[in-house]
Amino acid sequence: MKYISTRGNTPAQSFEDVLLTGLAPDGGLFIPESVPKIDHEQLLAWKNLSYAELAFEILRLYVGDSMPEEDLRDIINETYPVFSHPDVAPLHALGDNEYVLELFHGPTLAFKDFALQLLGKLLDYFLKRRQQHVAILGATSGDTGSAALEGCRHCKFVDMYILYPHNRVSEVQRRQMTTVPGDNANSLAIEGNFDDCQNIVKKAFADQSFLPEGYQLVAVNSINFSRIMAQIVYYFYAGLNFIDNHEAVSFSVPTGNFGDIYAGYLAKKMGLPVDRLIIATNQNDILHRFISNNSYSLGTLEPSLSPSMDIMVSSNFERFLFDLFEGDSSRVESFVSNLNNNAQQVSETEWNRAKRVFDSCRVDDDATCAIIKEVYEEYRYLLDPHSATGVEAARECCAGSKNPVICLATAHPAKFAEAIERAGLETPALPEHLGDLLEREERFTVLPAELDAVTELISKTL
Ligand SMILES: *Cc1c(COP(=O)(O)O)cnc(C)c1O
Repeated sequence: MKYISTRGNTPAQSFEDVLLTGLAPDGGLFIPESVPKIDHEQLLAWKNLSYAELAFEILRLYVGDSMPEEDLRDIINETYPVFSHPDVAPLHALGDNEYVLELFHGPTLAFKDFALQLLGKLLDYFLKRRQQHVAILGATSGDTGSAALEGCRHCKFVDMYILYPHNRVSEVQRRQMTTVPGDNANSLAIEGNFDDCQNIVKKAFADQSFLPEGYQLVAVNSINFSRIMAQIVYYFYAGLNFIDNHEAVSFSVPTGNFGDIYAGYLAKKMGLPVDRLIIATNQNDILHRFISNNSYSLGTLEPSLSPSMDIMVSSNFERFLFDLFEGDSSRVESFVSNLNNNAQQVSETEWNRAKRVFDSCRVDDDATCAIIKEVYEEYRYLLDPHSATGVEAARECCAGSKNPVICLATAHPAKFAEAIERAGLETPALPEHLGDLLEREERFTVLPAELDAVTELISKTL
């Protein structure tokens, strides 16, 4: 398996190289050169596998010859036992044909653990083999930071620097980052907003000359293909429950950067019978505006009750555009780079093709609170605000459909108390392993929103 860039100006790379960089050198995103196809017989054979066994069958197709299969199997077998539920990703039935796929049983209570727990182990494996050190640098508005710190804190060859906006993340989110033990975990509170953090990170990646000899930066946001790869597994794990009678299922996915739903798109491309992929957005609705009006344009960033979906541009959408433009990299490039100046659109035929795969729905804060309350009253089931947008979108887009719809529950409700309170409900307690989170000692460094301040700290502490 080799990976190519959506911008077409990078030679094909191995999985190992893709994991260790993130963004392609030409500014594009890595995608598999060809997507492996799974036939119906194979799907039936996968139906009764455990989560880890299924993960092995799928990931080996993407890792290719970057590592011996037995090593990959060992890594996977060590990864998923840290999840607190024996099924890892349990499927919970709500009403008729309506399901919730619980992706919040990992250490930091959001779906990002699925990929970042694995990424930590993969990095350790390859870096040990190469005897090389790297620095992870990332900006976070919440869930990615804690999942990355938790996933990589045991890595001997990795130092981590996670930037978050000082005083602008929730207390639970901040504490999940600042209380991670380990000498290699550095939480940097930046005196600015999330965009300031992201800009610093982008500049540091563009000029890495501040790093000591031999070091390089690794990206852990969803532009890193290894994250997408790990997320393909739970679409199969859930969808295979319905495979016997050839029933296609729909997935409703709370979406920000288009990473999670792009994994669902790859699962469909591989051969999982998927009816629709529903993009659920909050008021930051660039993707919904594209699907409903064929207009992809920057809006203003509006803080919402589902902060992990607060984005202006969805980076991973570029990966889908590459397919939509049938591999024409120059069109991908012009679509993405002209976005700053004006709204982008695609041809009528292309737009219709996109709409055959994706449906979309915008769920604002009021609608989010309303559905949290409604589902709680119907089923005594408490949704977090991100997951709630998915359930509402499923109900709006799938009314009258006979196919089962699986709503991805991307975070645990205890993580986002404000929305639960606004819905008039009582916040649940944090799960046991985080019960003492509010008493743990915090470690973080406050820095001005300046590139030099960050690079100086990194080069001093590496
Ligand atoms: C990151 C995140 C999302 C959005 O996922 P994308 O891959 O960026 O679309 C949704 N919900 C939660 C809880 C998240 O942490």
